[in-house]
Amino acid sequence: MEYQYYMPTKVIAGENCIVKNSSVFSSLGTKAILVTGTGSAKKNGSLQDVLEALESVGIESILFDKIMSNPTIDIVYEGAELAKKEKADFVIAIGGGSPMDAGKAIALLASQDIKEEELFSGNYENKVFPMAFVPTTAGTGSEVTPYSILTNDKAQTKTSIASPLLFPKVAFLDARYMMGLGQATTINTAIDALSHAVEGMLSVRATAMSDFYAVESTKILAECLRELRVSSESVISLELRERLLHASMLAGIVISHTGTTAVHSMGYSLTYFKDIDHGRANGLLLPSFLEFIKESKPERVEQILSLMNCEDTRAFRSLLEDLLGKKETITEEEIKTYSSIAIKAKNIANGIVIAKEEDLQKIFRESLN
Ligand SMILES: [Zn+2]
Repeated sequence: MEYQYYMPTKVIAGENCIVKNSSVFSSLGTKAILVTGTGSAKKNGSLQDVLEALESVGIESILFDKIMSNPTIDIVYEGAELAKKEKADFVIAIGGGSPMDAGKAIALLASQDIKEEELFSGNYENKVFPMAFVPTTAGTGSEVTPYSILTNDKAQTKTSIASPLLFPKVAFLDARYMMGLGQATTINTAIDALSHAVEGMLSVRATAMSDFYAVESTKILAECLRELRVSSESVISLELRERLLHASMLAGIVISHTGTTAVHSMGYSLTYFKDIDHGRANGLLLPSFLEFIKESKPERVEQILSLMNCEDTRAFRSLLEDLLGKKETITEEEIKTYSSIAIKAKNIANGIVIAKEEDLQKIFRESLN
């Protein structure tokens, strides 16, 4: 058995874990730049907890609360400039995938000069601001991955910066910050996490260690998704949200080893061109992708279906359809354009079965019509 396993992020989970562990911040630096979206970190109590923790250990901070969903290259350069101007020396990112992904790019760009053309190259000096992450959705797993995914207008898709430098030093998992999330966001983000676990199992880079996390994550998410299918917004309990946050972190560890596959490359087109939420985009595509893989690797897909407690791919599709509701439509022209972009993505090569452009077209066609 051959594998490498590397997960340098300290994970601290539990109610009120930020304030209880405020001393951790003292090991990261002397002045923090707080990277958040425009609103939710203020409403869900996470920003307040971080400020309280920082105050208790005498650390100054500045707030950069401009991160939009699907962050742009411009916004991360702007954040890095502010960090330099204010002499911050570490990053605390609070929010869903967007503030966390932006936080990583800001930590990199504030520590060294990288030209925009070089941003996705992976050729960086060996330095980065230390990072502490506070996820406020349960889906991206960004708190434990070495990826920062940004909107790349030149390539008309989302592209990831990948570097071991981008692993946060600390991740604080407190599900209380997710209590105000609506049903749709909770479902979309949970499906993103599921997609990470499942794609990790369908990656050529899967190992005994990544499978260990993927199996556990998939089992937890299978249960949670069934509970979400029958629940209404008002009854998503803290306990269910804790399981979702835990499973999402586990799935993040999976993709930090395996990368994602064609589902993510294709989903990026749906997000870029049609503004479909990232997790939802993956959820729309995942059943047909499983069917595509099943043609050549039936045992692996059977294993996933059994973890999901689904008899066959049809049962899997029906579970996701119940959760996602009415689907968007796609034209034949869009299918061709999106497939031609997705086929160029690096993660296509990760699949245990390598999809060709016509396979992507077929998956798009089956998934959205
Ligand atoms: Zn994802």
